[in-house]
Amino acid sequence: MARKKIIAGNWKMNMTPSQAVELVNTLKDLVVNPDVDVVYCVPAIDIVPVVEAVKGSDVAVGAENFYIEDKGAYTGEISAPMLLDAGVKYVIIGHSERRDYFKEDDALLNKKVLKAFASGLTPILCCGESLELRERNAYKDWINLQIKADLEGVTADQVKTMVIAYEPIWAIGTGKTATADQAQEVCAMIRHTIAEMYDEATAEAVRIQYGGSMNAGNAAELLSKPDIDGGLIGGAALKPDFGKIVNYNK
Ligand code: PGA
Repeated sequence: MARKKIIAGNWKMNMTPSQAVELVNTLKDLVVNPDVDVVYCVPAIDIVPVVEAVKGSDVAVGAENFYIEDKGAYTGEISAPMLLDAGVKYVIIGHSERRDYFKEDDALLNKKVLKAFASGLTPILCCGESLELRERNAYKDWINLQIKADLEGVTADQVKTMVIAYEPIWAIGTGKTATADQAQEVCAMIRHTIAEMYDEATAEAVRIQYGGSMNAGNAAELLSKPDIDGGLIGGAALKPDFGKIVNYNK
C-alpha cells in the first residue's frame, strides 16, 4: 500500500497563543489536501488554543517535546497524559535542537519513544548529522547509530505507525537544503536499516520525512522521491507558504 504523505510544521519557540490562533486561521483554507496528513507541532502553551482552532479541520496537533514520567515533581515539564488530554496526537522526539542545546541523549530519547507508544502518542523521531560528519563522510554510520539506539525495544507494529524525520543539521534554518538526491539517499538508507532491524513490511510502512529548509519552491522535488514521505517544516510553516508545501502535488 502506498504511504500517505505527512507534512508537519515544527513551529519551535515561535507564536504566542494569540498569534498561534491567528496563524491557524490564516492557513485554514490553504492546508486542505486529501492526499496529505497535516500536523502542527506547536509550543506547549499554544496546544490548547491550537487544538480548539483546528476543530472541524483534518489538521492534527503535535507537541515539540515531553517528559517520560506521567506526573510528579518535575518542575517545568509536560507529560504524555497531559498532552493526550489536551487533544495532541503526535510528538517530536530528538530534534537536533533538543539534542544539542538541551543535551538529550539517545538513552533518554529511547525512553521517550517507548513512553510515547505506551501512552498512545505517535512519535516523530528526528535524526541527522552535523556538517562535520557529512564532510568526513561519516553521516550514514552516525544516523544508523541514532536510529538503532532510539528504537531499542520498539516493536515492528509500533514502528509501522511512527514517523522518522531525517534532518541534516547543516540544512536546518540555514536556507541550505539538502538536494533531493542527498535527502533521498539517506531516507532510503533509513528504510533499509529498518528492514534489517525488523522486516520488509515494517520498512515499507514507516513514514520518513525530510526536514531542513524545505519550502514552497523545493517541496515538490523533494517529495517526488520514492523514500521521502513528507516534510518536517520549520520557518516555512509559519507562513502561507506552508499551504503550498501541503499542496505540493497540485
Ligand atoms: P527549517 O527547520 O525548515 O526552518 O530548516 C526544520 C526543522 O528544524 O524541523
